[in-house]
Amino acid sequence: MPTSKWPISFNKPIIIAGPCSAESENQIFETAKELKKIKQVQLFRAGIWKPRTRPGCFEGVGVAGLPWLQRVKNELKIPVTTEVANANHVEECLKHDIDVLWIGARTTVSPFAVQEIAEALKGVDIPIMVKNPINADLALWLGALERFEKVGITKIAALHRGFHTYEKSHYRNPPWWRIPIELKRRFPDMPLICDPSHISGNRELIPRVSQKALDLDFHGLMIEVHPDPKNALSDNAQQLTPKALAQLLNDLNLKDSISPNDSFDQTLNGLRAKIDILDQEILVQLKLRLEIVKEIGSLKSKNQVTALQVQRFKELMDKRERQAFDLGLSSEFARELYQLIHNESVKVQTEQAKSDSNNASENQSKNTLN
Ligand code: PEP
Ligand code: MN
Repeated sequence: MPTSKWPISFNKPIIIAGPCSAESENQIFETAKELKKIKQVQLFRAGIWKPRTRPGCFEGVGVAGLPWLQRVKNELKIPVTTEVANANHVEECLKHDIDVLWIGARTTVSPFAVQEIAEALKGVDIPIMVKNPINADLALWLGALERFEKVGITKIAALHRGFHTYEKSHYRNPPWWRIPIELKRRFPDMPLICDPSHISGNRELIPRVSQKALDLDFHGLMIEVHPDPKNALSDNAQQLTPKALAQLLNDLNLKDSISPNDSFDQTLNGLRAKIDILDQEILVQLKLRLEIVKEIGSLKSKNQVTALQVQRFKELMDKRERQAFDLGLSSEFARELYQLIHNESVKVQTEQAKSDSNNASENQSKNTLN
């Protein structure tokens, strides 16, 4: 099987940069020349086929853009990557010697599309990066990674680009970090790269999201860069100039996941021991809370009252958010936490009501038999 190596060194952080879309040979080459000057940039990105939510937007230059990427690779010696969404895209990229392929968020949602791409790669061990699906479904993301593993791809990275939401958010795609963290827990050795551009949707948020990803020990960042971002044909609010990228990389605070010395380890272990004790207490309190919830469940079912009472739920959430805020905690955190707790309470109440009514009918049939 022809095997191509990762064209990157994996010195953290791996920086992948380039425009959202390839627009012209000049735009590609000028951007790449500027990026060549930034030593952390290891891979040049540009979308050739652009998956747009609605027709009529710029949908990419198509195959015509592939020789432009080849020129970056051959003349500037920067490895290149582009997005593929079907078997034909794969075939064209292989013909044009593209180093790494990536799967976009709108493709990862479709197991048929992912399978088609994986089949087209049978026998070609090219490095692949798989973006998370637009919906917050970890299983779908893992499924896509697995489809590539199954056809024999050995170099696979996961790309975290945030998740679509209907809720109002200052992000274009909220990051919901717990999902990539869970992926990292299950596959600690798989490179995990963050795409702060598509998470943020605007230039201002990119530094904060990038720093957060590095603090969470991501392997690197994929950042959209354009020589004239405001006039870019796609994603013009989120692209950085090469100069702004250099500044961002300079400002990032790089941390190590390995302990620097013994006294650090001792202090850290002491603090973690305190957290373990508090967590045990929290769990005991939650258990006590659920015992009361069960009693409420029985009371409601005896009185033919539904487990969920929207008014009470609303009051409880408002009150907990205020209490959390008064304690200096984030109200968003309290809301998410109490949504989980309340879901569990409704579930326990429903189960309690079911078991009460089963017991009641068993007793009734015993009485009839007697
Ligand atoms: C892109 O990287 O330009 C892109 C289209 O991203 P996503 O698949 O994350 O929307
Ligand atoms: Mn984009």
